[in-house]
Amino acid sequence: MVSVVDLDRMVHPDEARRIVLSRVRRLSIERVPLAEAAWRVLAEDVVATEDHPPFPAATMDGYAVVASDASPWREVLGEQMAGQVLDIEVSEGSVVRIMTGAPVPRGADAVVRVEATEPAEDHVVILQDEVTAGENIRPVGSDLRRGEVVLAAGTELGPAELGLVAGVGLVPVPVSARPRVSVVSTGDELVEPGDPVGPGQIRDSNRFSLVAALAGVGASVVWSGKAPDSEPALRALLIQRMAESDVVVTSGGVSMGDLDLIKPLLGDLATVHFRRVFMKPGKPLNFATTEAGAVVFGLPGNPVSALVSFETFIRPALRSMMGCSRIERPRVPVTLAQATPSSDRIEMQRATVRVDQHGTLVATTTGSQASSRLASFLGANALLVIPPRDVSYDPGERVEAVLLAPPLGAE
Ligand code: AMP
Ligand code: MG
Repeated sequence: MVSVVDLDRMVHPDEARRIVLSRVRRLSIERVPLAEAAWRVLAEDVVATEDHPPFPAATMDGYAVVASDASPWREVLGEQMAGQVLDIEVSEGSVVRIMTGAPVPRGADAVVRVEATEPAEDHVVILQDEVTAGENIRPVGSDLRRGEVVLAAGTELGPAELGLVAGVGLVPVPVSARPRVSVVSTGDELVEPGDPVGPGQIRDSNRFSLVAALAGVGASVVWSGKAPDSEPALRALLIQRMAESDVVVTSGGVSMGDLDLIKPLLGDLATVHFRRVFMKPGKPLNFATTEAGAVVFGLPGNPVSALVSFETFIRPALRSMMGCSRIERPRVPVTLAQATPSSDRIEMQRATVRVDQHGTLVATTTGSQASSRLASFLGANALLVIPPRDVSYDPGERVEAVLLAPPLGAE
């Protein structure tokens, strides 16, 4: 039994992430057509079942020759295009006209490029003095060797990766299932963004931030909507969402207010593992799991808190569920460009990191870091990890940054 005291302990973000990663399950494997596999996570190793190229291939348009042949002119026996194999043998005094990618005919051991030749009616003059055996030929297996592990399970299938999968003929492609995620915005103050906003009301923005963040990780949003601060309504919705999702993400309702209902409901409907993180923003993050294996993240309602929590905990969790080989974003040391306030918790400040003319990574924060100011994410390619301390940080001090995108170049 976890006691109430344990649950209210402030957990270091690294420990919280370890707890989350230890609680998530690996998703099943599905086999999809190549065209649907782009940016999915490969679920099995890809092994080359044959050599690539499978035949010695010309890398130039020209003439397939015997390298040691010194004949002043050669008879042209035929034309070898890509995609077929002519039954011709090249010997001294003869050549075969050949196109890039075509198999080199028997007997030939080099290709002289067309620019180094002079054609006549039914023969050709080789103008090149020295021809080396193997010249302009891609040997069998020079790109991939049979039995070679081309891609390891856990690789994301970008352009080169998907091309390699196609090239070795692995169809359909074994990929991890997408996590099925439900997004629940809670709060009586929320209205649909297209509806009129009454007194005291605000538009629900978190739902859409989270939908975009989830799309970026390759999750499948199976449901998204909002719920009022009403115990019975929230309870019924959570029960249903937990049953139909791998991951449920709620926003709001985890603070100390009278209508902060998510916290008690999660305690009732699931096993809560922590509900306070030593992090700013994002302190009241609730993390729970159900008996059936769904995981629930109760995010704070402030838009920045919700997104920083997503980055720090949900993204790694989803990537772990999909078996990604690299779960975390890169962390690099950066130099602060300006004085930066500190807090009493680990503060994740949004910043722009660029490489200066000396090759140093320099970070500039994006203005007010209020947890309601979603615009603090604009132009940010990093979250600075600012350790707590009494005095603010000076320009030139070094801190760690989580890179959300590559650093910008020097201005
Ligand atoms: P809560 O965590 O419910 O106490 O909400 C904290 C702050 O975030 C309040 O100012 C809410 O109005 C705001 N907030 C909560 N949910 C959303 C949402 N879905 N979209 C935008 N702001 C929200
Ligand atoms: Mg609320």
